[in-house]
Amino acid sequence: MTPLLSYLTPVFPQTEAHPAFFLDRDDTLIPDLPYRNTPEGMELYPNAGEALRLLRQAGYRLILLSNQSGIGRGRITLPQLDAVHKRMEELLANEGVQLDASYYCPHNKDEGCPCRKPATGLYDAAIRDFNTLQNGSAMAGDRSGDLRLAKAVGLHAIQIKTATQEILPEAECVVPDLLAGANWLLDFQGACRP
Ligand SMILES: [Mg+2]
Ligand SMILES: [Zn+2]
Repeated sequence: MTPLLSYLTPVFPQTEAHPAFFLDRDDTLIPDLPYRNTPEGMELYPNAGEALRLLRQAGYRLILLSNQSGIGRGRITLPQLDAVHKRMEELLANEGVQLDASYYCPHNKDEGCPCRKPATGLYDAAIRDFNTLQNGSAMAGDRSGDLRLAKAVGLHAIQIKTATQEILPEAECVVPDLLAGANWLLDFQGACRP
């Protein structure tokens, strides 16, 4: 089985202890385009940059965890994933923010890999690479797999409700976008579910 893919560009030294904000990519940071294999037309959600800047200022590491089964299905090549990733980093840089790392699961659903969310392999790789504090750490995403991973490893679970979907049972907080999620986490007042 091909290994997961990682991009490490630490902002704080990897050995320094920090809480971490783990985030999904598609329909969380950028609008989903199924099997996105080109950076063309790609944009961040409007206030995603502000959300990540606030978290960074508060001492958070920013770590992206993303399932990209299009690679396993042959719909996205590795150079294409790389081009999309680079463009995402550029868009974030334009917003004055940088991720510490991104981890991608390249496997197809039926491969039974240990890294496709809600499995914890991407998270496990991140905590091997970085000294992260459990206290205050969170995972934000739009899908059940994101939140099930969060609960499995003891992270605050933030549902980004981008599409018209149901409220997920694992969600500790349900918000319309990353900025609302960041504000909730930084001003932690307990559960915020409708
Ligand atoms: Mg998603
Ligand atoms: Zn995988």
